[in-house]
Amino acid sequence: MALVKVREVLEECCEGKRVSIRGWVYRKREGKEMIFLLVRDSTAFIQCTVRRSSPAWNVAERLTIESSLTLEGVAKQDKRAPGGYEISVDSISIIGLAEVFPIAKDKSEEFIRDIRHLWLRSRRMNLVMKVRADVLDFAREYFKAQDFIEVSPPMFISAAVEGGSTLFGLKYFDQDLYLTQSSQLYLEILIYSLENVYCIAPSFRAEKSRTIRHLTEYWHIEGEWPFADMNDLMRFEEGLMAHVCQSAADKCKKEFEELGADITKVAQVRAPFPRITYTEAIEKLKTKNPKLTWGDDLGYEDEKALADEFGKPFFVYDYPTAIKAFYCKTYRDKPEVAMSVDMMVPRIGEISTGGAREDDKDMLIKRIREMGLNEKDYDWYLDLRRYGTVPHVGFGMGLERLLTWMLDLENIIDAIPFPRTTRRFYP
Ligand code: ATP
Ligand code: MG
Repeated sequence: MALVKVREVLEECCEGKRVSIRGWVYRKREGKEMIFLLVRDSTAFIQCTVRRSSPAWNVAERLTIESSLTLEGVAKQDKRAPGGYEISVDSISIIGLAEVFPIAKDKSEEFIRDIRHLWLRSRRMNLVMKVRADVLDFAREYFKAQDFIEVSPPMFISAAVEGGSTLFGLKYFDQDLYLTQSSQLYLEILIYSLENVYCIAPSFRAEKSRTIRHLTEYWHIEGEWPFADMNDLMRFEEGLMAHVCQSAADKCKKEFEELGADITKVAQVRAPFPRITYTEAIEKLKTKNPKLTWGDDLGYEDEKALADEFGKPFFVYDYPTAIKAFYCKTYRDKPEVAMSVDMMVPRIGEISTGGAREDDKDMLIKRIREMGLNEKDYDWYLDLRRYGTVPHVGFGMGLERLLTWMLDLENIIDAIPFPRTTRRFYP
């Protein structure tokens, strides 16, 4: 008999039809005359009932939580069953009988994090991972529609991108290398060949702080393109965000609903986004944080305060040069201000940083020296300004921060299957 997915049984009127499914036992309840099994596969759960008179009764009795099996029976509508259908089972074949599954006993947060490899089977993680895959598709759709080419940058690198404090070093044979903090500099190389490029790749940050928005390994959606300015950059980013959010609101309704995430918040994301300058942000924040002065970096609490006031995604742009990386382009008539922009969202604060990149060789050398970096390390980067330099912009958005906001997740660790933090790297 042909196997079907559980979702098909629930969605394609299978009333009265014989079906066969394959999956795992999620729950089991044993009555005198009936055993109730909740069986899951990758798509959904379905209630399966085994009567004492059924030839499957003896096998059903032996089943344990998380055992894998194939079963056959007749599908019928039952309003009391989760999903509205159940299967009245007459044949079960066990594929792998499970030992006593630990999660049924202990559900503390700490324990669940320790056994991530088993917790990933939970409905919650199943749904988050599906939305994550869809969001990646939506992002790629947008880049492609704007004629961007996907490229593959390296993860082993020889010089810091974002500066030393969050750099992971490693032994590369007998040399010292690092794990990349961003693929930006490599995308900058590729624009001279392909013009509009993007990548979706891991970035690594040795973040010691434990917050709801920091991982040590995260997936970074980065784009870079030539002949563009700050306005083009913000328009692209808000377009990307609106496309991703509206596509999710349209195609991931079920997942949002089951996860209890606020889909209207996401459906309402529309370009253009509000824009304020860093100077305006400081003015706004002064009442809440009187110590804050022009030149200070915005902390999480500041960003959150601003973002909660807006209640939707928005941009803060034109930051002080002194708190920005060496590659940020500055205004020629205002060198203390850098062409840098952050997108912020409620509760999380920053979810992307972008900007115009310094395209003048001498200015770039000056900035590298000012920041105490080694010019030699960036010789190849300076070559890009020596040979046919062009004005260009780019940005990086953290995929997990985006998902944390979209799905109302409490902590960023639930936006990625195998979170890496200061304390967690198992399995
Ligand atoms: P923060 O100040 O919040 O630590 P950042 O300004 O150092 O972030 P950027 O270098 O601007 O981060 O990186 C671009 C984007 O990558 C950020 O806007 C964020 O979405 C994401 N990101 C950065 N660091 C992390 C991290 N440790 N974990 C998850 N995402 C991150
Ligand atoms: Mg940033």
